[in-house]
Amino acid sequence: MNFSQIFEMLDIGIVILDRDLNVIRWNRWMEVQSQISRDRITGSPLFEFFPHLDTPRFMRNFKSVSTFGNFAFFSQKLHRYLFPFKPLSGLGTSFDHMQQSCTMGPLRDENNAIQYVYIMVQDVTEVAGYEQKLLEMNMRDGLTGVYNRRYMEFRLNQEFERYRRYGRPFSLIIQDIDFFKKVNDKHGHQAGDHILKSFTALLASGIRKVDVVARYGGEEFCCMLPETDLNNARKVAEVLRRKVEQKIFRFRSTDINITISQGVAELTTDIDAPERLIQEADAALYEAKENGRNRVMVSQCAK
Ligand code: GH3
Ligand code: MG
Ligand code: MG
Repeated sequence: MNFSQIFEMLDIGIVILDRDLNVIRWNRWMEVQSQISRDRITGSPLFEFFPHLDTPRFMRNFKSVSTFGNFAFFSQKLHRYLFPFKPLSGLGTSFDHMQQSCTMGPLRDENNAIQYVYIMVQDVTEVAGYEQKLLEMNMRDGLTGVYNRRYMEFRLNQEFERYRRYGRPFSLIIQDIDFFKKVNDKHGHQAGDHILKSFTALLASGIRKVDVVARYGGEEFCCMLPETDLNNARKVAEVLRRKVEQKIFRFRSTDINITISQGVAELTTDIDAPERLIQEADAALYEAKENGRNRVMVSQCAK
């Protein structure tokens, strides 16, 4: 009875290497995923087929296993994958490569001497995909699909640190729909929801890919604009203001128009915390409301 048949049935990859990193075993799973037959690879150095693995980190791990009998783990979170295989189709994930969790360990002979090293390769693409989706959901607003406030704060912190380090311009626009309560009162809450969704789609279509739209509160939104100074941010806000003003939002054959008021602020050396940038944009927004709504005001704290 040859128990090594089980090798070929496993739903994980198994590679056995000798101490010089030549491939000794290459199971069926590895053949299928790599499109490299065992006949081709057996007896060859692993790096001949996978030169990208020839890194100090991989070698350190290999030495630690083959010399000291330790175990090494290559987690998906840290490494994504060891072997660049295509992910199985139909999982609806956005990964270019199969995400892998790999273990490396020693194989000993009767005298307890380490003769070989095995690598076990597990496909964790599906789990990593779910995790990615959950993380994504945690950052998104359920109604509109744009980023939520939690993400906005996280991102502002990041941009704040980046500004401190590199001094690149960064601006924030805060937007509040004018008299939105009236829209709800007149057309119903569902119409209001519909407008919020169409409105965010309109915002997203009016900014660059690197800009970020987030829902700051009920009918309050913000656009974060990297590499944009106050003057350019004001221009962006003005374009958005006009777009919204001209847009006819249609809900159940009723045409509804809205306008927005906006406050714009730019990071400067005077702004000593990310929240202060929000306060600045908020103060400008308040001015816009005070001055008659449907307008853009910029922070007075400008350079
Ligand atoms: P202002 O011009 O001063 O901003 O007037 P406003 O009516 O927009 O201001 P206010 O902040 O008093 O009201 C905001 C309204 O937005 C209250 C609420 O009815 C509505 N709103 C907030 N979140 C949602 C939502 O998720 N869906 C709907 N349909 N309405 C919402
Ligand atoms: Mg409001
Ligand atoms: Mg409002």
